[in-house]
Amino acid sequence: MSKMPNLKETLPRFENTLSFAEQMDKDDPLAQFREQFHMPKSLTGEDQLYFTGNSLGLQPIKVKEYIAEELADWAFLGVEGHLQAKTPWLPYHEFLTESTARLVGAKPNEVVVMNTLTVNLHLMLVSFYRPTKDRFKILIEGNAFPSDQYAVQSQATFHGYNHHKAIIEQCPKAGEYILRTEDILETIETRGSEIALILLGQCNYLSGQAFDIPAIVKAAHKKDIPVGLNLAHGAGNLLLNLHDWDVDFAVWCSYKYLNAGPGAIAGCFIHEKHGNKKQLPRFAGWWGHNKQTRFEMGPEFEAIPGAEGWQLSNPPIFQLAALRASMDVFDQAGMPALRKKSELLTGYLEYLLNQLPNDFVTIITPKDPQARGCQLSFKVNTDAPTMLEELKLSGAICDFRQPDILRAAPAPLYNSFADVYKFAQLLERKANSPEVKTQK
Ligand SMILES: *Cc1c(COP(=O)(O)O)cnc(C)c1O
Repeated sequence: MSKMPNLKETLPRFENTLSFAEQMDKDDPLAQFREQFHMPKSLTGEDQLYFTGNSLGLQPIKVKEYIAEELADWAFLGVEGHLQAKTPWLPYHEFLTESTARLVGAKPNEVVVMNTLTVNLHLMLVSFYRPTKDRFKILIEGNAFPSDQYAVQSQATFHGYNHHKAIIEQCPKAGEYILRTEDILETIETRGSEIALILLGQCNYLSGQAFDIPAIVKAAHKKDIPVGLNLAHGAGNLLLNLHDWDVDFAVWCSYKYLNAGPGAIAGCFIHEKHGNKKQLPRFAGWWGHNKQTRFEMGPEFEAIPGAEGWQLSNPPIFQLAALRASMDVFDQAGMPALRKKSELLTGYLEYLLNQLPNDFVTIITPKDPQARGCQLSFKVNTDAPTMLEELKLSGAICDFRQPDILRAAPAPLYNSFADVYKFAQLLERKANSPEVKTQK
């Protein structure tokens, strides 16, 4: 993938002390960004040790101001706000185009914010899943997020295929948690002629594994298979280069790493080479219609060239306002700097987890920083749901996913090295407790 220096050579030698963690925070050029977020409080009134930014990112302080501006413009201007608002509503989504394109490594005409994630996934499947009698299968990663599984299954059914036959799940080898790139490539090589589409969670929600997208896309395109990505766990977490990777489409939500709030408006990428293809079927709505003639209210749909042509409805302005506040923070910090810190922060968490006594923790996320984002997924040598409750009482939030996996995601915008250290201390206390020592 990218030509990052070998992290082993660039990582500082970590130390398992609070003073080390605090020194790392002092040296962190992004440390002040934490102040741009509301930190939830623990029962004792301190900042929570918040490691669920992979589920719901924290609220940027400025969100309130951005939304208040739209409320005020609506109150004073009514319908005139479409053109007269300080940030006019008619083209509001366009004010997010540049920062969104930067975020995912796309050209501006390749991205649009609209709808929610699973809705966008269905819209993309309408356009890019074109099954035929001989070629109707969809390849997805094993342990894909349930919504993705339901989406591809229902699309196969919609086209008249038995979804048990239509979906190929690429699972890890027995006893392993991580997919090997060579296994994915082999499936493409041996079964490519049956496969109509590949859909991958670019960074898997459960294992935290980030796939080698350029290699997979290259192999898929050799077999004429389009590749779509779900970036729910990639956007705002990993460095993305969708255009150059030649990905066909991608969709993502904005409430996880992108901090745009619960149910936030989502994003969509359509590679420029597909943006004007008349022969691609799509479900259309008036917001995707040529902006010059949209209000002539004519009966014939004429798509805006590029990703915007897939829009259906006029978008929720308060949602766009929240996303704008959040994207402004990303623009200030910059993804390359965030990613650099993220590798250190997650590397530090990994180092501390591996130091825990009594084999308390087994990390399943790849060791290679290139093959993961900020999340570490791990198993613990005790009853995980009970432990999570105890952690919560002590002010630390991470989460549990069936069957037995804990996920902790230090987010470089607002988590500190001291957060990570204190979290590991809580786990250490647990690892040393009697019920753990007696297990095995
Ligand atoms: C979070 C997540 C979703 C959620 O879908 P919504 O439509 O936003 O509710 C879907 N897929 C993946 C991979 C996710 O991580």
